[in-house]
Amino acid sequence: MSVDVILRNADLPQGNRRVRVDILVQNGQIAGYVQSSAGMSAPQVVDCQGRLVLPGAIDGHTHFNELEFAAREGFVTGSAAAAAGGVTTVVDMPDLPAVRSAAQFDRKYAAVQGKAYVDYGFWGGMTGEDVREGWMDRIDEQIERGVCAFKLYMTPSVPTYPRVDEAEMLELFTKIAPTGIPIGIHAENYAIADYYVQKLQREGRQDGPAWAQARTRLAERVAIQLVISLAEATGARAHIVHMSTRDGVELVRAAKQRGVSITAETCPHYLRLTAAEAMREFGSFAKIAPPLRAEEDIAALWEGLRDGTVDFMGTDHAPYVIATEKQAPGMDIWTSLPGIPGVETLVPFMVSEGLNQGRLSLEQLVRVTSRHSAIHYGLYPKKGSAEVGADADFTVIDEHEAWVVDPQRLHSKAQYTPFQGLRLTGKVKQTILRGQVIYDDAGDLQGPPGTGQYVPRQRVQRLERWLKY
Ligand SMILES: [Zn+2]
Repeated sequence: MSVDVILRNADLPQGNRRVRVDILVQNGQIAGYVQSSAGMSAPQVVDCQGRLVLPGAIDGHTHFNELEFAAREGFVTGSAAAAAGGVTTVVDMPDLPAVRSAAQFDRKYAAVQGKAYVDYGFWGGMTGEDVREGWMDRIDEQIERGVCAFKLYMTPSVPTYPRVDEAEMLELFTKIAPTGIPIGIHAENYAIADYYVQKLQREGRQDGPAWAQARTRLAERVAIQLVISLAEATGARAHIVHMSTRDGVELVRAAKQRGVSITAETCPHYLRLTAAEAMREFGSFAKIAPPLRAEEDIAALWEGLRDGTVDFMGTDHAPYVIATEKQAPGMDIWTSLPGIPGVETLVPFMVSEGLNQGRLSLEQLVRVTSRHSAIHYGLYPKKGSAEVGADADFTVIDEHEAWVVDPQRLHSKAQYTPFQGLRLTGKVKQTILRGQVIYDDAGDLQGPPGTGQYVPRQRVQRLERWLKY
């Protein structure tokens, strides 16, 4: 028997145990596992050296900017950062440029051709404007293109993507409910968030933590309460993106226990950084929406990941240009744009702070970095699975290697991160996409971009309820 690739000496998670196997890859897919491939031949053999080999991580929340927004992170640098961070699939957000129709989808699809190192799916878009203008059929055409989910902003985000009000949300939830496709909601109440931003601005506050004080936890709380009410009323699948507060964890947990169709994600920065410290130290380089919170939120979010309230991780990777959008002359904490990178540090962070610190078991780590995202976005078991027949996407980790996050050494265009100086134990040694090594820690990216392919939604799938109570 011969295969295309053999990945030797891989320590593969099997629940919370690890099994040492050789992985056989044929046509980019997992063809089988053997205890020893001695005597077998393949044109390519990769020695994983007994390291932990995780299913390739999935980041379902990136904002790679293309076309008229190409001064920022685009697919070339963004997906390079993903590859270097052990992320083999991203699902990219629909805002820059806007993807809110089939024509706009096709424009983005064409612009991305040949640029990605890793595989990618697309979010679709829907806004209050679709309701007001009678453009609801644009949702159906995007579903036909294979979008994985739809994004809704309750607060104004970028000019290309208007917010929704409460009635428009109800219309959109009702429209999407029968399809079973999830809606991801940026959940902050606009009136409350905006009022306190203006109030603190008028009071002359210029310190970093003022941003976090203005975007209150109550703004997130009441927004999530509304989402839960609408999901319960319509049966739509609602997903809280970048959930940041203990309040959110408690609300989502209670809603899940009632049987409401709701899921949630959080991001690494909400699991480690506090507004009081990081926003004082990094100012606008730690400015995001929703903002960083406090220790009690960090503890609650980890607990949520453990018990299944928080279903999986995303990064909200959205860096801006330092010279013109973060620290331009005359710019302050209120006018600098909210966004930070994250795709490159996701896996090392979760290995270091989750697995190695004992906050997550091996099985939980796999669930929240790949498996659950793949199911949620309709990509499983092609992605997020180590089953025979799945794409041979893997992340080879040295769990013991320590390193310090330095934005100058990351592949992102960002050149900043509020994780700067953070010491992590756990490093990506190789990233394997459909059997090919696309990144090697010793030799960097293994070729030009273009290895990544578009992956449409395979089917509509629902996460089974993992919540243990
Ligand atoms: Zn986002």
